[in-house]
Amino acid sequence: MRFASLGSGSAGNCMVIEKASTRLLLDCGFGLREVITRLEKLELAPEQITGILVTHEHDDHAKGAFKLGAKYNIPIWLSHGTRIMTERYVPQDAKLKLNVVDSHTSFAIDHIQVIPYPVPHDAREPTQFTFSDGQYKLGVLTDTGSTTSYIEQMLSGCDALVLECNHDLTMLQNGPYSYALKQRVGGRLGHLDNHSAASLLAKLDNSKLKHILAAHLSAKNNTQTLAKEALSGVLNCALDWVGIAEQEKGFDWRSF
Ligand SMILES: [Zn+2]
Ligand SMILES: [Zn+2]
Repeated sequence: MRFASLGSGSAGNCMVIEKASTRLLLDCGFGLREVITRLEKLELAPEQITGILVTHEHDDHAKGAFKLGAKYNIPIWLSHGTRIMTERYVPQDAKLKLNVVDSHTSFAIDHIQVIPYPVPHDAREPTQFTFSDGQYKLGVLTDTGSTTSYIEQMLSGCDALVLECNHDLTMLQNGPYSYALKQRVGGRLGHLDNHSAASLLAKLDNSKLKHILAAHLSAKNNTQTLAKEALSGVLNCALDWVGIAEQEKGFDWRSF
C-alpha cells in the first residue's frame, strides 16, 4: 500500500491511496487540467483511478471531483449531505456514478477497505476516512474544528497519519484575517490548529506509526517549522521525520 498528496491547503486538496491496481483519490479540489498535471508527477493517468472520495462540499475539496468523474467515468463516494451540497459541481448531462455512504459504516472499494467517520466542520455532512489493506492502516484528518473521542478511536493504531495542522493560534490572532474569519477558522467547526493536532496525536496509540504528515497548513497563519515542532514534540522524533503536505508539491509516495 502506498499514498501521496497532489497538494494540500486552502487552494486545493487531493491525495491518492493505492493498493495493487486499486487507486483512490481522496478529494479533488483542483481543476481538471491541474489535477491531471499533478497526477502525471506521480506517474499516474486519470484512467488509472478506481474511485474518488469527497469529504465535504468546500471548493478546496470538491471543485474538480465531478468533472474528473464525469470525463473519465470514475465512480464517486460521498455522504448524503455532501451529495446534496455538491449538485452545483455536477456537469450538465453528466452520467455520474455516485455512491452515498453512511458516515459510520465501512465499505470496500476493490483492494481497499474504507472506514468513514464524521467530523465537526462547517459543512453539511463532513466525513473523513481511514484506509486499510487488511494489514496496514492510513488515517487522514483535515477540516475539523475540534476533535472527538470517536475521532481518537478511528485514528488510533494507524501505520500512517495525515493530520491537519491548519494554523498557529497566535499567528491567527495576530494575522491579516478579518475578525469574522478568525472566529470561523479558529472555531469549533473550523480548522485544527497545531496545538490541538498535537493534543489529539498524544491521545492516540502510535506504536505502529511509520509516517506522519501535517496537512492543510494555512499560508498566512502557520509555518512548516511550527507544525513540525508541534507533532514531533509529541512523538519525540526528529523534526524532519514529520512530513508536510504542501500546497504546491503535496508529498511524494510513502509506502508500507
Ligand atoms: Zn479544506
Ligand atoms: Zn472545509
